[in-house]
Amino acid sequence: MSLTKKILLALLLGIFAGIGLTFAPAEVFTPIDTYVLNPVGEIFLNLIMMIVVPIVFVSIVLGTVGLGDPSKLGRIGVQTISFYLVTTAIALVIGLGVGLVLEPGEGGNFSIDDASYEEQAAPPIMDTLVQIIPENPVEALSTGNMLQIIAVAIFVGVALAMLGEKTSGIRNLFEQANDILIFLVNAIMKTAPYGAFALIASAIGEAGLDAIGSMFMYMLAVILALVLHGVITYSIAIKTLGKASPLKFYKAFFPAMSVAFSTSSSSATLPVSMKIAQEKLGVKKSISSFVQPLGATINMDGTAIMQAVATVFIAQVYAEPLGLSQMLMVVLTATLASIGTAGVPGVGLIMLAMVLKQVGLPVDGIALIIGVDRLLDMIRTSLNITGDAACAYIISEDDKRKNGIDEEQTEQTA
Ligand code: ASP
Repeated sequence: MSLTKKILLALLLGIFAGIGLTFAPAEVFTPIDTYVLNPVGEIFLNLIMMIVVPIVFVSIVLGTVGLGDPSKLGRIGVQTISFYLVTTAIALVIGLGVGLVLEPGEGGNFSIDDASYEEQAAPPIMDTLVQIIPENPVEALSTGNMLQIIAVAIFVGVALAMLGEKTSGIRNLFEQANDILIFLVNAIMKTAPYGAFALIASAIGEAGLDAIGSMFMYMLAVILALVLHGVITYSIAIKTLGKASPLKFYKAFFPAMSVAFSTSSSSATLPVSMKIAQEKLGVKKSISSFVQPLGATINMDGTAIMQAVATVFIAQVYAEPLGLSQMLMVVLTATLASIGTAGVPGVGLIMLAMVLKQVGLPVDGIALIIGVDRLLDMIRTSLNITGDAACAYIISEDDKRKNGIDEEQTEQTA
């Protein structure tokens, strides 16, 4: 059985096991969750997180060297960031639209009197942007600050490209480090089915079916908006901008989506999503290794959709309907918030507080959706990384049409 099929099977079994566990009494569920599911899931997550920082650093250095000319890097940078901002804004409009049509916050029995949410500090967007160039690159690597790591890697890559032959030894070292990391990704992915099963069974078991029942309309609205954006927006973009087949894209990229689904972390999925983009979709390595890590950090269309639907939902529950200018404010703040949202589980909810405050809605409303957020996080993270890969695929296809195929890109297997 191929790894993709094994992961898919594990996902399905994990969903069934999770639903089964919601019926189990706490004395049965808690030990299974604490001593089996959580540790297995955690070990899998740690295994992939272990290689994320080195992969991002090494592949961006090599990607920048591969692009050669710094002006090409600038052009791809502008294309990437434009794609990310525009698609996030579209995602927000879809989220708001679905929320307004389905009205998930009307009619339900939501107890807002008991709702209280302790706000957690969200990183101020300006600080994130200003501090993109780290004072201490080693600290950036050790704390896993992705935007800073990307900046340092680009500097090193540009220097290596400019110095050419003189630094060929270091460049070889990076290439060999890359080989080691690819070897490790392949090895770690063999454990993905077990990790995926444990993470999903635990997430569903912990959320419980009661939470799902009362929040059904909200979940439906978020999922519908995610599906609409995933299927329509990206397909149109791949077809028109990339002149490529959306079907081929989704078929090849599915295993990465399932890893995102089980880990709820764009960062953790990065090694797999880059590998698939390069090997199965034929995305140029230099483009994939620049566009996808950047996307995993600053581009979160799925998260933006959750924030849009959640804002409409909370406005409806608190009977404070949103006006047009408030909706525009949601689009603006949530687009900025997605830049500051780290690609790890649950951060989208923390950033939602900022969006709610911006439009004058009670932050306590978050308490209503928190119970089902872990489940929605799985689906929105799949969309988050799909947007990054779609962008890399489109830019690479466009680049191939203009500049031909890289010699280095020979291992395409799809
Ligand atoms: N879990 C999401 C991600 O990693 C972020 C979020 O929406 O919480 O992409």
